[in-house]
Amino acid sequence: MTRAFSTRPAFISEMSPIARIALDTPLDRLFDYLAPEATPDDIGRRVEVPFGPRTLVGVLLELAEHSEMAPAALKAIGRIDRDTPPLPAELLALARFAAGYYHHALGAVLASLLPPALRRNGKPARPAVAAAYAVSVAGRAALAGITPAKPAQHALAARLLAGPLPRAELGDRERTLLRDWLKCAWVLPCEPIVAEAAAAIAPAPTPDQAAALAAIRGGGEGYTPWLLHGVTGSGKTEVYLRLVADTLERGRQALILVPEIHLTPQLGERFAQRFPGHRLIGLHSGLSDGERRGAWLDALAGRADIVLGTRLAVFTPLPRLGLIVVDEEHDTSYKQMEGMRYSARDVAVWRAREAGVPVLLGSATPALETWNNAKSGRYRLLSLAARAHAQACLPQVRLIDSRSDRPKQGLSQALVSALEATLQRGEQGLVFINRRGYAPTLLCNACGHVFPCPRCSAHLVLHRNPAGYRLVCHHCGLDGRPPDACPDCGSVDLRPAGHGTQRVEETLAERFPEARILRIDRDSAARKGSFAAMRDRVAAREVDILVGTQIVAKGHDFPHLTLVGVIGADQALVSPDFRAGERLFAQIMQVAGRAGRAEHPGSVLIQTRYPGHPLYQSVVRHDYPGFAAAALNERRAADFPPYVAQAVLRAEAGTEEAALAFLLAARAVGQDRAAGVELFDPVPALMLRIANRHRLQLLLQATSRRRLQAFLGQWLPCLAEVPARGVRWVLDVDPVDV
Ligand code: ADP
Ligand code: ZN
Ligand code: ZN
Repeated sequence: MTRAFSTRPAFISEMSPIARIALDTPLDRLFDYLAPEATPDDIGRRVEVPFGPRTLVGVLLELAEHSEMAPAALKAIGRIDRDTPPLPAELLALARFAAGYYHHALGAVLASLLPPALRRNGKPARPAVAAAYAVSVAGRAALAGITPAKPAQHALAARLLAGPLPRAELGDRERTLLRDWLKCAWVLPCEPIVAEAAAAIAPAPTPDQAAALAAIRGGGEGYTPWLLHGVTGSGKTEVYLRLVADTLERGRQALILVPEIHLTPQLGERFAQRFPGHRLIGLHSGLSDGERRGAWLDALAGRADIVLGTRLAVFTPLPRLGLIVVDEEHDTSYKQMEGMRYSARDVAVWRAREAGVPVLLGSATPALETWNNAKSGRYRLLSLAARAHAQACLPQVRLIDSRSDRPKQGLSQALVSALEATLQRGEQGLVFINRRGYAPTLLCNACGHVFPCPRCSAHLVLHRNPAGYRLVCHHCGLDGRPPDACPDCGSVDLRPAGHGTQRVEETLAERFPEARILRIDRDSAARKGSFAAMRDRVAAREVDILVGTQIVAKGHDFPHLTLVGVIGADQALVSPDFRAGERLFAQIMQVAGRAGRAEHPGSVLIQTRYPGHPLYQSVVRHDYPGFAAAALNERRAADFPPYVAQAVLRAEAGTEEAALAFLLAARAVGQDRAAGVELFDPVPALMLRIANRHRLQLLLQATSRRRLQAFLGQWLPCLAEVPARGVRWVLDVDPVDV
């Protein structure tokens, strides 16, 4: 009805209000439409509008009396979605902040924070098909009041009142009954909640936990940023749970961010068990569009009490927000690497400040930026120094000098003996190597040829499938059979060089023929659900030795795992990335934290050629503060973050010349306004070429964030004028990989 008016319809008077709509376009502006029926209540609502030949979905942000546009050029707005609550003002402010800080178009930011199903136009949002159903607060009395004279209704109500009911357990007739109850919101869709959910009894807090809780509670309900530094197994999650309990008691919603989807189920169960009467939703990229829309709408309508999600969940609308927790706050997966390159941790802190609620960042190895904020007093620091479990102590870490104990097939004698002893005791061992595949390269033994990816500046990685060997590029996905002979010299003496998880798995199988070995890496865990199945096998002691990349290192609790071997870690010490050491330290501490979580003491063996390296020495002492102090000193001396603010302009093109020409021109337009901001020479990215695209970058650095932001605000509009034929470019504020 309101589609694509080409002339002004007669019924719109001169006083008709103008609606300013944010649309998902790269243009950083709002679009004006005639909106005769719009009221201030519509601010924050989704609207359909004609845009060229298409109809787009946008968000109504402002109402005005006049438009800069000629009246004849104004079109009328389409349907306003009044079936969905408007986005809260707090969320609109958050989107504005993110758009400003990361220099991204507001319309694009708003579009990206809507679930995909709500970005499209068409029918109003219907409740999603849910995995389970639960009774709402309003529904309790209503359902309890259903008379036994209606046996079907009565029986279904009784089942629902007893706890969340999985959809799979409902017959057709019951689904029909449920539809009416859903309509009046007596019943709400929910995530499947473990059936036996009874409030798990909370353990009495340890003295460290009690002190942390007292401090946070003493800080009140308003904004305070806390850093909870706690060694692995110190009971950080227990602190989160108790704070969430406080928050729920006050009738507020809690937002819990976790780094990876793999972590969500285990943690989700703990929350669900602790708060069976509350609605918990999980938000992560593994959900279907329908599930995501349902969960998001529940949060928006205030029906969900706890939102547990990955980085994208930081933009969840939460009209009753009372607490934000960022677990494993140092994890790099909080940084979005495409589109708007935001840091969900930093956005979370900003959101907490604006919303006036406490924010708790938790980690065993905080990001150096965060540690610096705590040391400088910007964040308040709390420490959990000991493991929470009465018998558990931190594992003993030993360094194996691989110059004297030379590894055979990647494994030192010390590690092999330790594995033997572990298996004899009936305990489990883990060999950590952060490289998937069989071997990092295939090497010609005659001439030294290694096989580069023809499309990337990287070597092809040798993989082993049931069907045979493959050469695979980890960057562009190229995948082929290895040649029979060296393309350079014709020799057929081609050998795998170095070790990946598959090769270590093979070696272990040879050394320990009796042992049950399980490899966990991105390849073996690729199928949905297979990771959880593997974890269950480990927990059920159907596995003796685990081999894995960092995905095994994250937050899993395997009580019978007592030995961790770390191999191939030295490589990070020679990386050109100045954050490589920080990441290595965090990774080793995390994987070491898998050992000895329960009553069995754990030990960690690290194979290295540099046993004297200060980083490893800090690991042996479990000394994060010592490591951080040394690393921060280096950062300060070298003018690296957190002592400077950085942004990087990344350009990619079919040729190096095109990308370079763009960056040089971009630099030239910025040079004369760059007071206090340093513009470096364009340089190749850490990976110069991926899939035949050449990637270069221009680093910008300033002693203050404000100064850098002021410059970016002036510079970016000028970049639109810089010739960029065939060049794709993007700005990355606070980059994590330069
Ligand atoms: P973190 O998140 O710091 O790694 P968790 O919260 O997972 O640690 O706790 C580690 C282990 O200690 C878990 O098995 C947990 O149940 C247990 N735990 C936590 N707090 C306590 C406590 N106060 N008393 C006894 N056990 C606890
Ligand atoms: Zn050769
Ligand atoms: Zn490639």
